[in-house]
Parts: sequence; structure tokens; C-alpha cells
Amino acid sequence: MSNNKPIVNENISKGEIIRTYCNNCGQNINHQILMDYCESGEEVFDSDPGIPGFTKGFVDAADFKFDYQIVKCIGCDTVSYRSDNFFAIYQDHDNDGRWEERFPMPVSVEEKGHVEYVNLSRIQELINTVSPDYDLKKLIQFCKELNSAYKNKLYLSVPLLVRAIIDHIPPIFGQANFSDVYSNHGGKSFKESMKNLDKSLRKIADANMHTQIRKKEVLPNETQINFKPDLDILLSEICRYLGK
Ligand SMILES: [Zn+2]
Repeated sequence: MSNNKPIVNENISKGEIIRTYCNNCGQNINHQILMDYCESGEEVFDSDPGIPGFTKGFVDAADFKFDYQIVKCIGCDTVSYRSDNFFAIYQDHDNDGRWEERFPMPVSVEEKGHVEYVNLSRIQELINTVSPDYDLKKLIQFCKELNSAYKNKLYLSVPLLVRAIIDHIPPIFGQANFSDVYSNHGGKSFKESMKNLDKSLRKIADANMHTQIRKKEVLPNETQINFKPDLDILLSEICRYLGK
């Protein structure tokens, strides 16, 4: 097999609108190509490549085109990577020889429910919550870092970040600490959720943070660090209370 040097073109599809999957929007949606780098050419085969569909001495070259793109979702402005690839060798009656690669990889809505620790629409709600008394910037960043840690299976970090949140927010409810929050604020179910968050979370966070190395260590698993429902109740209460 030998290769001709590929032809390189930059930004030949810049500005074009293409349809591809957005992880954030959870659907196929229009994206604009912000920039691209395209390599194309012809791959020449010296002899029978042994690939089905090739006839020896008859087909000896195949066109290819790899267009590497930075794309932006029209719906949510998320910028990601896409490559639009074509290789004639893959062409047959039910394949046009084109395929797409994406980074980050497409994640379906069902899987996404699993990979987010803090629901993305809850984060958006926090972003939209404006308070004259409290800047939610750090709280929002904690939530984003939680999602990032959870996605990357950083199960030691997750409880620490949740703990940072519950230590951070009591002034919003006019309280000095988190146990005052669930003693003095909200209805019965809110109080119970927050109490659970405080007791079991603190235990796990402390166990991971304040223990010295032992002969045998056990790492927390996904189940152990799941405080998602209680945390969501807390965040939604913050939005509701500040939005009043
Ligand atoms: Zn989107």
C-alpha cells in the first residue's frame, strides 16, 4: 500500500450548518461549523489488498476525505469536535463510505441521566437565579465540578464536593450551619432529606478524608456516594427561596 500526499484545505466548510447529536440538548440538532481542517486524496494500492469487493488489477485506488471540524450547537452553544470522514473503500450498495466521529462521544439521554450528578437543567436554574445578597458563582462551580468528578468516576472527590456545598449554603436560609438549616427551615420532607444528606454524607466524606492509610483500603463505589436526590431537593429549594 502506498499513499499519495494528501491535499490539505482549511475552512472549506466553515460556516456551514450540519446536523449532529448534541449531548447537552440530548438530540440531533443543527450545528455550525466554526472551523475545519480537511485532508483529502487518493490512496493507491500496489496489489490486491485482500478486501472484499476489490477485484485484483481492476480497482487500485480509493478516494478519501477526512474533514476535522470544531462545531457549535445552535441550541445551547456547546462547542465540540466532529470529523466527517469518507473512504471509497467502504462504499458498497448499503454504505456511502461516510462516517462521523465525535468528541465528546455522543451520550444518549438515558445514559446521560446516569452520568450527571447534578441535573443540567438544575444548574441552568441556578444560573438564572439572581440574588442581590448572594453570589451563586461558587455554588454553580461546585455543581459543575461534581458532574465532572462523577463522569470521570472520581468517587473520592464526589462526597467532598457535596460536603463543600452543604457547608457553603446555610447563609442563604439565614442559618449559621447546615444542621440549623434542617432544624429551622422548610417542611417535614425537606428537613428529612437534609438531615439524611448531613448525617450519611458527612460520615462518608469524613471516612474518606480523615482516615490514615491502613493495611487494606476500600474505595467508595457509585452507590455509596449517591446523594443525588437529596442534593437536588436542596438546590431546588435554593432556587425557589431566592426566587421569591
Ligand atoms: Zn446543544
